[in-house]
Amino acid sequence: MSPARKKQKLLRCPTCSKTVAAGDPEYPFCSERCRSIDLGKWASGVYRISSPILDPEVLEGLGEISKRSQDDDD
Ligand SMILES: [Zn+2]
Repeated sequence: MSPARKKQKLLRCPTCSKTVAAGDPEYPFCSERCRSIDLGKWASGVYRISSPILDPEVLEGLGEISKRSQDDDD
């Protein structure tokens, strides 16, 4: 008896169209690099969407957090 082969779900990386397995840590991207590239596209407005996921206020809040962690270094 052979164990039932788990069918791995494959998806194409939105950035480079390489196939990515569903269990990949960077899923649905093939790599951290492609993930960053995709995020960069969102940030620069390459993808035009009617309701932005990132609110400008949220981005400002993130900036505050990184500023604070730098102050902690003092
Ligand atoms: Zn990729």
